[in-house]
Amino acid sequence: MPIRIRFTLWYTFLLGAILIAFSILLYLVLKFSLHNQVDRNLQDRAQQVGAGIIAQAVIRQSGNVVGIEVPELNVFSSPAIFIQVVQADGSLVTATDNLGKQRFPPDKQILQANQEGHSIYKTVTIDQTHLRIYSAPIRLGARVVGAVQVGQSLKDVEDTLNQVLVFLTAGTVAGLVLASIVGAFLAWTTLRPIEKINRAAMRIVSAQDLKQRLPTSNTKDEIDRLTVTINGMLERLDNFFQAQVRLSADVSHELRTPLTVIRGNVDLLRRGAANDPNELNEALSIIDGELDRMSRIVADLLLLSQADAGLSLRMQPVELDTILLDVYRQARVTANGVILQLGHEDQAVVQGDADRLKQLLLNLVTNALKHTAPGGHVTLSLYREPEWVRITVTDTGRGIAPTALPHIFERFYRAENNDQKGTGLGLSIAQWIAQAHGGQITVTSELGQGSTFTLWLPRGNTDRVETRPLKLSQV
Ligand code: ADP
Repeated sequence: MPIRIRFTLWYTFLLGAILIAFSILLYLVLKFSLHNQVDRNLQDRAQQVGAGIIAQAVIRQSGNVVGIEVPELNVFSSPAIFIQVVQADGSLVTATDNLGKQRFPPDKQILQANQEGHSIYKTVTIDQTHLRIYSAPIRLGARVVGAVQVGQSLKDVEDTLNQVLVFLTAGTVAGLVLASIVGAFLAWTTLRPIEKINRAAMRIVSAQDLKQRLPTSNTKDEIDRLTVTINGMLERLDNFFQAQVRLSADVSHELRTPLTVIRGNVDLLRRGAANDPNELNEALSIIDGELDRMSRIVADLLLLSQADAGLSLRMQPVELDTILLDVYRQARVTANGVILQLGHEDQAVVQGDADRLKQLLLNLVTNALKHTAPGGHVTLSLYREPEWVRITVTDTGRGIAPTALPHIFERFYRAENNDQKGTGLGLSIAQWIAQAHGGQITVTSELGQGSTFTLWLPRGNTDRVETRPLKLSQV
């Protein structure tokens, strides 16, 4: 069932429940208060009449009888109020003129209650009209000698209640009809933008064009925020697909070059170079080099795809100074005339994967050595700061052009002035490792002056308290 209809039904149902509950309550309160008013009225009249009655014992020859002297009753009556005075046995003493020949129907329950000295209310039916009667005993000393009975027709009260009932029922029905119309309209206007988003999203899907964006309304409401979120998602998807396309193109391009070289050398060997030990050696070492390069590319790609799939790191406390020392020792062998040195040397422990962190630092140092001419300097430093551990790899090499700087962490990106062999994957792997540790790599560079790559790693709470400078430079 569409949300629009569900929304309207719920709205109408809730409003209906509230209206019905309210109507029932109102009706009951009104009914109670009207009946209460009638009862109070009857009691008042009975008291007024009772105050004027004089009962006395009259001695007759036939025995003692009770004489009841009643004031002019008609004074106390009104068109809707009837009064009669009866003796203890229920026989009439007198009644108001508006009763005519009619009398209140004799009622055992009333008679009995009065004889016992109690007042009583009772509703009786005469000619299909309800009559409310209040009967109060008349006493002579301790004896009950009669009763004042006041009655009122309930017709007016019932008419009023019926009118209110009709009004409430009609009002509830009209309210519900109105509420469902208003509810349907509100639901429609509220959900219309979602329908629009839906249609626009379907257009994007059917056109398979991730460049399209959903129109935003700038109203800053929930729907606007949803649109912005979906647009952000489309942006990321678009980037992701483009990166995928670029990646396959780059991978095939990268692998084609070594394959061409290998094929060329194999051809050469077939055409007789294999018979000459020098040529054979040269061809084999070229093939070996290219195979090495291909293996590196494949290994790097494998690592990156594992990273994409959410490869988990083996996190444990890692002594960064020790790792930096290892990297220094390993890279020094391949320095090729570049002066590799250790700078500021703090000691720090972070939570991390030692192998990956070493791989990251090796990538940075290898790059620095690769892009620095013999005689230049590459300096490794480690700083322990309150929140972060900072490792810098500074070189005095060729530097990176400002236009290239934003791209160097992209997969397969290689700067144009770069005549060095490389896969363009080293920095993207390094950045991934840094980010997987909750850190990042930043870079500053000046063309012709050199570059500084900085690895930032969060210190967490594994760091040792004491600062013991490690004499790395003595290694
Ligand atoms: P590569 O395998 O090509 O070195 P990287 O991802 O490691 O791939 O580096 C990307 C590009 O960034 C390099 O091709 C190079 O142009 C540039 N680069 C990286 N480090 C340095 C550096 N220390 N000095 C100058 N350029 C650098």
